[in-house]
Amino acid sequence: MSNHDQLHRYLFENYAVRGELVTVNETYQQILTNHDYPAPVQKLLGELLVATSLLTATLKFDGDITVQLQGDGPLKLAVINGNNRQEMRGVARVEGPITEGNTLHQMLGNGIMVITISPTEGERYQGVVGLEGDTLAACLEGYFRQSEQLPTRLFIRTGESAGKPAASGMLLQVLPAQDGNADDFDHLVQLTATIKSEELFSLPANEVLYRLYHQEEVTLYEPQDVTFRCTCSRQRCADALLTLPVEEVTNMLEQDGNIDMNCDYCGNHYVFDAVDIAALYSGNTDSNPQLH
Ligand SMILES: [Zn+2]
Repeated sequence: MSNHDQLHRYLFENYAVRGELVTVNETYQQILTNHDYPAPVQKLLGELLVATSLLTATLKFDGDITVQLQGDGPLKLAVINGNNRQEMRGVARVEGPITEGNTLHQMLGNGIMVITISPTEGERYQGVVGLEGDTLAACLEGYFRQSEQLPTRLFIRTGESAGKPAASGMLLQVLPAQDGNADDFDHLVQLTATIKSEELFSLPANEVLYRLYHQEEVTLYEPQDVTFRCTCSRQRCADALLTLPVEEVTNMLEQDGNIDMNCDYCGNHYVFDAVDIAALYSGNTDSNPQLH
């Protein structure tokens, strides 16, 4: 069974509450490819991926969101970046021993969560919160309490489905500018919290919603595909090289015969030989369209 990754939005007809449901198994697997992360880091990246997808779907404009965890523990960094087209990528940096069962706080030590929202047009917004909760979902709910004022709950599940890494999640949020009844929201939160990992990993969205809310009236909207996509490119690497001092670039070239730039997110290599570099400096990169 190959359910591809999709994000579903839904609305309760009788409550001022909206919901989202996302499955990101394939995207998750691609983020883990070419990396040898310890199991707890894999799990955390899955949670971050689910959360970022859910958050990105709350954007009311074109742009992207980066959710980044930084700390002074063995896990220095875990980051997922996604945009309104639900194109996602992510990476983690591990610099110490992490073993099975390590918690968020054991991995990150004194950690913070940085959420950066970058509209395609308009000003970038950045929110920084301490890791108050025990789980990523709890930390994010704290972020919503502090910044957006809209009561929001996240339900994140990671694990395995058909022998492969799987990650899914749901989000409930009170609609803006509505005096939602807190009891109503709690009621829906309690229903949603009963979702089991296997159900989220393998059932179609309408079936999940029916199992959870069969006594409620729910409208399910057309889904949006979620995909892994790295934004690196040869051009971006070239631009980065051009910001370095010429002597440094020349030295790298002389040492290795070429300059091999490796993308942490997707593992792509971009190799520049002496001819490429000469073309870069002559502003002549468009003369060979294959380079792009
Ligand atoms: Zn890349």
